[in-house]
Amino acid sequence: MQNYQASANALDEKVILITGAGDGIGRVAALTYAKYGATVILLGKTTKKLEAVYDEIVAAGGPQPAIVPLDLKGATQQNYRDLAATIDQQFGKLDGLLNNAGILGALGPMEHFCTSTFENIMKVNVTAQAMLTKALFPVLKKSNNASVVFTSSGVGREGREFWGAYAISKFATEGMMQTWSKEVDKTNIRINCINPGATRTSMRASAYPGEDKDKLATPEDLMPTYLYLMSDDSSDVNGQSLDAQIKKK
Ligand code: NDP
Repeated sequence: MQNYQASANALDEKVILITGAGDGIGRVAALTYAKYGATVILLGKTTKKLEAVYDEIVAAGGPQPAIVPLDLKGATQQNYRDLAATIDQQFGKLDGLLNNAGILGALGPMEHFCTSTFENIMKVNVTAQAMLTKALFPVLKKSNNASVVFTSSGVGREGREFWGAYAISKFATEGMMQTWSKEVDKTNIRINCINPGATRTSMRASAYPGEDKDKLATPEDLMPTYLYLMSDDSSDVNGQSLDAQIKKK
């Protein structure tokens, strides 16, 4: 689906929540979904960054977004329930949920992993996404056609030395998608993963500080797959893990 071309109004009338919408891939996904007509709910840790994305969408003439400053590391069940209630009140439904926020944490040998770093990574990359998705299920059920997307990684499909808790969290993400997608099969909700592949963001730069970033794909390059999974053209796609980039041989 790397060559998917969405029609200009592909996401009209859709309400889509993006986590980690202030920076990197999530920021570009939010701008892109708004450009194709969606009302986007921008969730992230740093309010200033969310406000900048909000301003960009409004300046481009997109539907008025909403901002949800929330640190997924400390977020509680009540935070998620409150968010679901607000979405229900304001929009009456949720059509898309892009679970994109993630942290890399520390890379290094498993033998030396630090328990608190391990727990933080699992909280942000796995537990928070499960809790958020669960809390939003009632509003997702109110959509005619809802799409939940989790964000995977190459290191979540095949183990790689020194990628530690991050890799383990991405294996868990793939497992969560596979498990949950089977439970929603033939309902109005579909659940899939995207593996972005190496992409020019600050997370990638901290994993590979010496790399020539000009050789990397940009978040914009990934958007056909991100659009596809949120558009009704993927209504029948459930339980898949898609690559956003064509693999180099
Ligand atoms: P960035 O670090 O550029 O952006 C991550 C986003 O997540 C930021 O908006 C950040 O907010 C937000 N975030 C981080 N921690 C929290 C938190 N505790 N609560 C709320 N929001 C938080 O990462 P990328 O854009 O590169 O990555 C996006 C996704 O893609 C991640 O899941 C990553 O694992 C995955 N991925 C990325 C690849 C790449 O090469 N870039 C490759 C494979 C997978 P703030 O800026 O406010 O901290």
